[in-house]
This record gives sequence, C-alpha cells and structure tokens, in this order.
Amino acid sequence: MRQDIKPAESWYEATVSREGYEPLRRSIEAEVCVVGGGFAGLVTALECQRRGLRTVLLEGSRVACGASGRNGGFVSSGFALGVEGILSKVGREAAKELYALSRSGTDYVRDTINAHDPSLLNGRGMRVALRHRDTGGLKSYTEMMSRDFGEPLHYSGVEETRLHLVSTRYFESLVSENAFHIHPLAYGLLLARLAVQAGVTIHENTLVNSSTREGTGFVVATDGGQVHARHVVHCVSSLSPHVHRPSGRAMLPVATYVAVTNPLQQNVIRTSAAIADTRRAGDYYRLVNDGRLLWGGRITTRISEPSRLAALMRGDMMAVYPGLGAPRIDYAWAGLMGYAIHKMPLIGRDAEGQWFATAFGGHGVNTTAMAGLLVARGLAGEDDAWRRFTPFAPRWAFGQLGRLGVQGSYWWMQAQDRWEEAKSA
Ligand SMILES: Cc1cc2nc3c(=O)[nH]c(=O)nc-3n(C[C@H](O)[C@H](O)[C@H](O)COP(=O)(O)OP(=O)(O)OC[C@H]3O[C@@H](n4cnc5c(N)ncnc54)[C@H](O)[C@@H]3O)c2cc1C
Repeated sequence: MRQDIKPAESWYEATVSREGYEPLRRSIEAEVCVVGGGFAGLVTALECQRRGLRTVLLEGSRVACGASGRNGGFVSSGFALGVEGILSKVGREAAKELYALSRSGTDYVRDTINAHDPSLLNGRGMRVALRHRDTGGLKSYTEMMSRDFGEPLHYSGVEETRLHLVSTRYFESLVSENAFHIHPLAYGLLLARLAVQAGVTIHENTLVNSSTREGTGFVVATDGGQVHARHVVHCVSSLSPHVHRPSGRAMLPVATYVAVTNPLQQNVIRTSAAIADTRRAGDYYRLVNDGRLLWGGRITTRISEPSRLAALMRGDMMAVYPGLGAPRIDYAWAGLMGYAIHKMPLIGRDAEGQWFATAFGGHGVNTTAMAGLLVARGLAGEDDAWRRFTPFAPRWAFGQLGRLGVQGSYWWMQAQDRWEEAKSA
C-alpha cells in the first residue's frame, strides 16, 4: 500500500519553524483587543499598534493555524464575489472604489514581503483558464477590467494556453501579471513577528469565550484571564460564531482541500505562475520551490476531512494532466473558510461598538490586509473608509438550513460546469 499522507501536517507547517507565544493567565488592560490570530487579526493588531494604540491579540490555538496558514497562497485583487456581482449591488463608482481597496490589500502583502522577507514569494502571475470554449465573454471581461478597474489582463487563445498548460481540458485563458503566490503560513508568522516588534502582545492557546460591554469599554474573557479594552475587534472567521453573535450568525463555514505531491520531474505545467480554472468549485494549483505541485480544489459545507483525500486530489490532478502519471501525495489537508451570504467581507462596527473584520471567503489573502488597514484607520480616527462595506452588512445566514442551501447550490453549479465542459469536448 502506498504511504501517502503525513497526517495533520500541511506542507506549510513542515517548512517553517514557529515561535511560541505564552497563553493569557491573568487580567490585563489594553486599548485594543483583537480576537483571532489569522491574517485579519494579525494585520489589524499590527496596524493598530503602528498607530500608537496599545494592542493585545488573543489566538485560540496557534497564530495562522486556520485558513490563513493552510490556503492556496494566491494573492490577487478582488473579492470572493466577482466584479459583476459587486457592480449589480452598488453600481460602477462604488464598485471601482471597492476594487481599489482590494488592490491596496494586494499591495500591502507585496510590500510587506518585499520589505521583510522576499523569500516568501513563490512565483509571479496568475493564469485563469476556461474548461470550455469561450463564447466571447473573456475578451469583453478583459476590456472591462482594464478600462473600469485598472486591472491589466492578458488574453491567451487556446493554442497559447496549451503551450503553458499542456492539457486538452483547457481552452482560452487570462493572465494577471499583478498577481503572485506566496508561502502563506510564513507570511502569517512574519506578520506576528512584525506585530510583536511593533509592541503588540500576542497570547496563543487562549480561546476567547465572550466579549461584553463594561463601562466605556469591553471585557474579553478567556479560561485563564481577561482583557479590559477600550475596543475589541473580532477576527475569528466562521470558527467561533458565539463570541460575536452579529457577525457569527452571518457566517457559513465552507471547506476546501489542498494536496502537495513529492518533487516532480514533469513537462506539462510550463509556468511558474499560479493557475486556476473558472469553474464554481474549480482547481487552483501552482508549482512550489522544490518542484512539488501544490493542488487545491473542491468545496463543500460538509466539514469533515475525507479519509480518501489524497486519492481524491490525485484523481483531480490526473484528470487534467494524465501526463503526470500518478504522483505521490506527501501532504493533504482541509481548511475552513467563512462566507457571508453575499460573499463579501463583513467589516464594520455593531450597535454596541464592537468591531468585526471577517468572512473573507476564498479570496482572503489580499482582503484581510485591506480590512486590517481599514479597521486600524477607523479606530485611530484617521478616516471612515470602512463604511464602504456598509452595503454588505451582516445578515443571518440561516444556520444549518443555510449550509444545506449552499451545499445544494454548489451541486447545482458543479452540474452546470460539467454540462458546459461536455459541450466543448
Ligand atoms: C484551503 C484554502 C485555500 C484558500 N486559498 C486561498 C488563496 O489561494 N488565496 C486567497 O486569497 N484566499 C484563499 N483562501 C481564503 C483565505 O485563506 C481566508 O479567507 C483567510 O485566510 C481568512 O483569514 P481570517 O483571519 O479571517 O481567518 P483564519 O485564518 O481562519 O483565522 C481565524 C483565527 O481565529 C482563531 N479563533 C477562532 N475562534 C477563536 C476564539 N474563540 N478565541 C480566539 N481565537 C479564535 C482561529 O484559531 C484562527 O487562527 C483559502 C482558504 C482555504 C481554507
């Protein structure tokens, strides 16, 4: 029997060394208490502290152990909700402003990495390919993105696409030169180090149980202690919906999977760019430093980690690239994202004054940086640009019923994708 997965360890965890941060064991005071140490919490804490606000970050487990340290590592502008959806909700001018904010997040990640550890950059560019013949939509999309959103995209016909991706599954594609891909866990750990250097106090293994109003501030309670803070910012994604009910009840947990092969000698993926296809639950993959193929895909609201994960992911790779043979899978893992019903981030302040920055869905590397900046600027009284997200306020996601509805819509969309592919075969 082949020896496939090293259980519970991602390739990312296997390729970093972590520093530990002590759990909270007493009562302390701060101006800002950030709950959750994923990218959203880390950037928020770092940027609050940089603005002179004494900040404490409480992380229930280890920093960046959630989606932030387990994701595909693609960094590109935009949101989980596509530009067409944003345009139809808020109109052209507001959509342009939102897109520009999302680009500020991409710039933040790039600048942080360039300034502190360029080795975290795994490659530049992102190619998004169709798995069915284009009917003209791709070219007009390219023109709109360049004209209205200042996002230059390069169009490739079928022949050019297949020079880079040697697979009959692909037809036309678009390349974004502004996108890049990174080691996300190393980026999260870098953010934590920068935060501590700036003066943030981080406590790991410190699960927050509640956050309640106390005089003019809040008390954030954990098993071992509590933080009395003037401001609280909730950044726990879909993982602890009870801690901040207004944002927690608006979240749906959605799982997706990643597998990493052994180092490959191959000639079918001929690009160092990140690659994705346009299906609703499509594949996303990239070659990483030592010739390993990091392959992500599938999307489900059923959170359990399938025991046959390695075999499933290998099957997905070979369906696109039979030329790969049957690569050995050295690592495979699941990750949990948080989505709001409208697929846009939830960024704002509730009626009591508690802040939230969450629901980044499958497009969180840039948008968490953007959100951290917006919240820190709002808290420091610099501006209220965070209000641009008011049209996307938290709305109840219908609990278990919402999950079933979303799972049903994934199945329906996947069936549509298969039908479109079948027509092009
Ligand atoms: C497999 C996968 C692939 C993805 N690929 C990409 C990609 O290529 N590009 C992209 O842009 N996005 C991608 N995403 C999405 C992106 O990773 C997320 O949107 C983003 O990381 C969310 O960050 P976050 O800080 O909101 O949440 P998380 O990273 O999940 O962080 C939340 C943190 O809160 C902590 N926490 C929870 N409850 C408590 C509590 N009660 N007290 C204290 N702490 C608590 C958790 O331990 C966790 O560390 C992917 C996601 C997954 C799962």
